[in-house]
Amino acid sequence: MSSCLFCRIINGEAPSEKVYEDDQVFAFKDIRPQAPVHLLVCPRLHIPTLNDVRPEQAPLLAHIFDVAQTLAAEFGIKERGYRTVFNVNPGAGQTVFHLHLHVIGGRQLSWPP
Ligand code: 5GP
Ligand code: ZN
Repeated sequence: MSSCLFCRIINGEAPSEKVYEDDQVFAFKDIRPQAPVHLLVCPRLHIPTLNDVRPEQAPLLAHIFDVAQTLAAEFGIKERGYRTVFNVNPGAGQTVFHLHLHVIGGRQLSWPP
């Protein structure tokens, strides 16, 4: 999807600060970080929202969370704490319609958000 910003980032057609990639996922730093650590973990596959994930794609979601856990350790937030978030649709603040898991940490996070 050449019209999708995150597809262009994943394909190297738009710049990003990459932190991880493999054959299924691509992760990079958020351009407007909401905390000292703010990463986005995306499937390479263009999936607009969590609502579009099919049951047989559950292993892809599991892998996205596995990468999030690895990155949390690498960025030193695994033990103190961090938050993983899929914003789904505009009512939850989703602005980029290519599935991405936010990995946020490095400061005290309040709840509810
Ligand atoms: P959403 O609001 O859809 O859950 O999250 C989209 C995220 O993408 C936002 O946190 C926003 O700061 C980030 N973002 C938007 N455009 C870019 C970009 O061009 N590069 C990077 N690295 N992040 C972006
Ligand atoms: Zn896309």
